[in-house]
Amino acid sequence: MKIAIYPGSFDPITSGHLNIIRRAANIFDRLIVCVMVNGAKAPLFTQAERVQMIKDVVSDIPNVQVDASDELLAEYARKMGSCVIVKGLRAGSDFENEFQMAIINNKINPSLDTMFLTAEHQYMYLSSSTVKELANYDVDLTEFLPEQIIPVFKQRIADVRQGGNR
Ligand code: ADP
Repeated sequence: MKIAIYPGSFDPITSGHLNIIRRAANIFDRLIVCVMVNGAKAPLFTQAERVQMIKDVVSDIPNVQVDASDELLAEYARKMGSCVIVKGLRAGSDFENEFQMAIINNKINPSLDTMFLTAEHQYMYLSSSTVKELANYDVDLTEFLPEQIIPVFKQRIADVRQGGNR
């Protein structure tokens, strides 16, 4: 059974992420979407909230499992019996960083390969941080976020704004 892991911060999951999940789920027998801790980013949602949001969005894809981990990705993959990491590759920004990560992960766990799926053209410039920026303006988010999570996302942005104004 070919098990792949799709790691990320997913803060929140965007339509670009979901597109990669659907395509990877078509290629592998099982896909584990794993919410990883990223020390460099202060998240809008907790790890548990992000896991729940992804679960809500992928409930119609039977071979997708959602998890969270604080471990080193290469170790997590070994533990889960996976030898493939799936990554989405967007225009410009992702390449250098992802290339470096792929080589490091392979050094730590030599049976681990990284497979890149190119972002679809309409999601090429979409990131969770772009969506968070857009949330400050009155922009229709349906193109950028899976529809199930739009209300939760808008509510969190409103809560954060209110907290900030106190
Ligand atoms: P973000 O940059 O949106 O915060 P994450 O850290 O959650 O992204 O990204 C997880 C993975 O998903 C990475 O491999 C990233 O390149 C990929 N990804 C993010 N956004 C997109 C998109 N719009 N299209 C394709 N892949 C994407």
